[in-house]
Amino acid sequence: MASLLLATDLDRTLIPNGPQPESPGAREALARLVAHPGVTLAYVSGRHRELVEDAMAEWSLPRPDYVIGDVGTTIWRVPGQGDWTRDADWEAAIGADWSGRTGGELAERLSDLPGLVLQPPDRQNRHKLSWFLPGDADTPSLATEIHQRLAALGVETRLVFSIDETADQGLLDVLPARASKLHAIEALVARLGIATDDTVFCGDSGNDLEVLVSALPAVLVANATGPVRQAARDGAGAAGTTAQLYCASGGFLGMNGCYAAGMLEGIAHFHPWTEAAMTAKERSA
Ligand SMILES: [Mg+2]
Repeated sequence: MASLLLATDLDRTLIPNGPQPESPGAREALARLVAHPGVTLAYVSGRHRELVEDAMAEWSLPRPDYVIGDVGTTIWRVPGQGDWTRDADWEAAIGADWSGRTGGELAERLSDLPGLVLQPPDRQNRHKLSWFLPGDADTPSLATEIHQRLAALGVETRLVFSIDETADQGLLDVLPARASKLHAIEALVARLGIATDDTVFCGDSGNDLEVLVSALPAVLVANATGPVRQAARDGAGAAGTTAQLYCASGGFLGMNGCYAAGMLEGIAHFHPWTEAAMTAKERSA
């Protein structure tokens, strides 16, 4: 039987919470596809578990088999019934980059840096230390200073700077060097024993770029901004993975290529057998 691991970002990729309209029926067609027994579904998000569950309820999202949360620092298995199971092996693997230290311990070494303010406790976890910073912060010099201080502790970090445009609020996640959406997806692919070609990733923004330009088949939805689209194309060109990147443009199934419609378009591009599963008539009586 055909099999597929569908790994997708949530906000503004599967969840239509951007300025563009969502094509009617797009999410329903995606739900039909993921109901196919050959499809394994993984959500890949910056959200933590509770916020993923909130989104699933608010937007009627299909129940996933796995959730990669907190920007790749947690992997959850989500059984059909019963509680979510946290992947301790993954957390041990990335924890080695921090020499076993927790986010709280690292926070003490950084708290005097000008402009850095800790985000609320529910945005922190053992391997994710999240700060607010001014929208105009000098991020290159901040990054140098943070790397220097933490390297002295034997801690290897990945710094992810972003901007909450609605609030002109700078954001910084301090993560173990190996913790990322891409590495977490690769760990999942290895665990499931799935061929790289039998996966597809869907995303929309800068924090998806590492996966979009990787060797994994990947879809950029049409509501992505022009600069993100350009960065994805340039990055894939430089990495030699242009054939593994599909930028949705609309027209497939008469839809606009944004959000779930773009996912469908790109998934069908890489895996043509899926179109029948998307468009199958509901079989329920
Ligand atoms: Mg997104």
